[in-house]
Amino acid sequence: MVNDQAYLEIRGYVEDVFALVDQYLQSLSDYTVPFINLEKVRREEDGGSRIKALLIIGQYGSKEALEKEKDRCLTKIKAAQKKLNDKIALMRSALEKGVTKCSMCNGVGKKYVARYSREDGAVASYLDSEGCPNCSGMGTYELSLQSRDYLAHSLKVVDKVKELGIIFLQTINDSTGSAGLCIDKDIP
Ligand SMILES: [Zn+2]
Repeated sequence: MVNDQAYLEIRGYVEDVFALVDQYLQSLSDYTVPFINLEKVRREEDGGSRIKALLIIGQYGSKEALEKEKDRCLTKIKAAQKKLNDKIALMRSALEKGVTKCSMCNGVGKKYVARYSREDGAVASYLDSEGCPNCSGMGTYELSLQSRDYLAHSLKVVDKVKELGIIFLQTINDSTGSAGLCIDKDIP
């Protein structure tokens, strides 16, 4: 469909969501480094080579610093997942309602402009509103069939990535059998 504004809005939105997906995957990848190093240290300390353990710890300064680095990476994963979950909720809501907000006026339909008036030689400024030029004052766009399909497909992909992230974290935790590490099954 030519000039399908809803589709253009959805495409822009989905691009932002996929940038967040990239951040999320990067945060998972970053987490594996301190996580595995800490496991190696534990193994070396537990009947392995104390020198090898110290060499790994040396990269971080101390064992506490290595543990802190792992926690910092986990916090980053949770933050990325929270952002992603918020976006997923908005995508789902747009699909259910069949409308999407105009990104220029954020659904308000108005654009505020500063105006100036001159009275008795003094200049006063005030805010005036005019109809949003992007959506012609409507605030929202009804989703076309094309934008609906595109949004539904993108939502499936993002849901899958989130699922994979949860499985990934569970797998590395299970495989090392480390206790005390709490990964929420569905981080809100
Ligand atoms: Zn608008």
